[in-house]
Amino acid sequence: MWPYSLFGNLKYMTDNQKKIHYNAARFLISASKLSQCPDDTGAEVAFAGRSNAGKSSAINALTNNTKLARTSKTPGRTQLINFFDLNIEGLRLVDLPGYGYAKVPVAMKEHWQKHLDQYLQQRYSLKGVVLVMDIRHPMKEFDHMMVEWCLSTQVPLHVLLTKADKLKRGPAQSTALKIRKELTQVLGDKVTVQAFSSLKRTGIDMLSQQLDTWLMDTELSNEEEIVNPE
Ligand code: GDP
Repeated sequence: MWPYSLFGNLKYMTDNQKKIHYNAARFLISASKLSQCPDDTGAEVAFAGRSNAGKSSAINALTNNTKLARTSKTPGRTQLINFFDLNIEGLRLVDLPGYGYAKVPVAMKEHWQKHLDQYLQQRYSLKGVVLVMDIRHPMKEFDHMMVEWCLSTQVPLHVLLTKADKLKRGPAQSTALKIRKELTQVLGDKVTVQAFSSLKRTGIDMLSQQLDTWLMDTELSNEEEIVNPE
């Protein structure tokens, strides 16, 4: 229980209280359809990626919590949308189902693709998507789908090119530049791209800054509405 509400008392918080601590992330709930998701208020950022891209490891690295990613990998939860609370009420991280599990029956795949699609299309509190790709295999079919989806909904996209430790610094940087150029042509200033390594823990600051921008911007705009109602 936090001693302040998200939108009401923001101006009385100290800077330290306002800071998002990603290591405070705690499992909240799993949902297999939109109606099971937490109330669509506040702000959340969703992580997407093909299975094995390194999404769980990236969430682990961000939150400094190995248990968290394991939660989403628990059998039965891999096909669900998993929600995590943060230290500020109303702010959440969301782990979307990994795409491309070979062993999942077609009917089940279709079921969760439909619900995933509804989540992406209709979730008002979704402020940004982090798309995790293996830096050695970027922009596969699923990744193109997510880019198209971001284009149609205008939800901002942050591309995390992970496992950067598998490449030398030069090739890693040139891949990031190439992908950034390619995606900027499609999404303009609604896309950012970075190299990342969960193993070496590089790029975590850049990622958390992007999440802060998405999540805290929402707070500030809500605060402005309360302080200066038009
Ligand atoms: P997910 O299916 O997208 O959640 O992928 P995981 O996070 O489970 O990672 C898949 C595999 O890639 C695992 O064997 C990880 O140890 C490995 N992996 C993930 N991130 C990195 C990284 O930054 N560097 C290296 N070298 N391996 C990684």
